[in-house]
Amino acid sequence: MNSNWTRIFSQFGLVFRAENQPRTVVRVGEIEIGGGEFVVMAGPCSVESERQTLDTAQSVARSGARILRGGAFKPRSSPYAFQGLGLEGLRILAKARDLTGLAIVTEVMSECDVELVAEYADVLQIGARSMENYSLLEAAARSGRPILLKRGLTARLEDLLRSAQLIVECGNPDVILCGRGIRTFETATRNTFDIAAIPVLNAVTHLPVIVDPSHAAGMREIVPVLARASAAIGADGLLVEVHPHPESALSDGDQSLTLAGFSDLMRDLDPFLMLRRAIADADLLATEGGD
Ligand code: PEP
Ligand code: MN
Repeated sequence: MNSNWTRIFSQFGLVFRAENQPRTVVRVGEIEIGGGEFVVMAGPCSVESERQTLDTAQSVARSGARILRGGAFKPRSSPYAFQGLGLEGLRILAKARDLTGLAIVTEVMSECDVELVAEYADVLQIGARSMENYSLLEAAARSGRPILLKRGLTARLEDLLRSAQLIVECGNPDVILCGRGIRTFETATRNTFDIAAIPVLNAVTHLPVIVDPSHAAGMREIVPVLARASAAIGADGLLVEVHPHPESALSDGDQSLTLAGFSDLMRDLDPFLMLRRAIADADLLATEGGD
């Protein structure tokens, strides 16, 4: 391994990938993340109503998503914006799971809510704004639920792996890392999609890595192409925002795909997923070869 990466990342011994170490596979029911299958998680930014959530869940399940996303507790840029339905939102998500068989991923923002959210969710999402909230990470880790850990807006990969290490240290090995774009000087997109993070993380950690192209882009136009790029470069899956009526969404409507848009995204991923298998077989995702 590149000696710079060894210097930076080997301090996180529980998540560092030693030479030839197998990847961690995170199991959510029958779903395996990091095990070769490309797992797509999709749904609304926020759970707004039962109708909106159930319609979205049924549609994304038909299109091939395996996990339903939806925020019941929302970290908004403004404290005056819609903050989520809380417990009612969790109940709606559980209903959607019963109806569709999809597993549920939803964010937990406060350590006080961990027990409650873990009762309803299959996977606990730690949002970008909470990535370094260590007391929240410890409480979430101890719930025993798999953790989807999003990269902070200004977090280096080193910072992301420090947080992952803490979760594993608390006895929870089931951590899924999620790239969601980082803050740079670029304003044409909401965040900057750090595509290099995927091969770097695949080299330095054994944890699965997924991509949230919705928050990276901030606009639905480029979500599908970022999704395809992620599949081709070795991500283990996606987290995608989908809404039946994005124009009236209470959060992140501009970056949410319509139900039909998501179905197209899934269809258009197919050749990339085939390519992905061929790429992996030929070892073309290896980070060596530049010398
Ligand atoms: C979200 O997934 O809706 C969300 C708030 O994401 P992030 O924490 O990456 O901003
Ligand atoms: Mn969102």
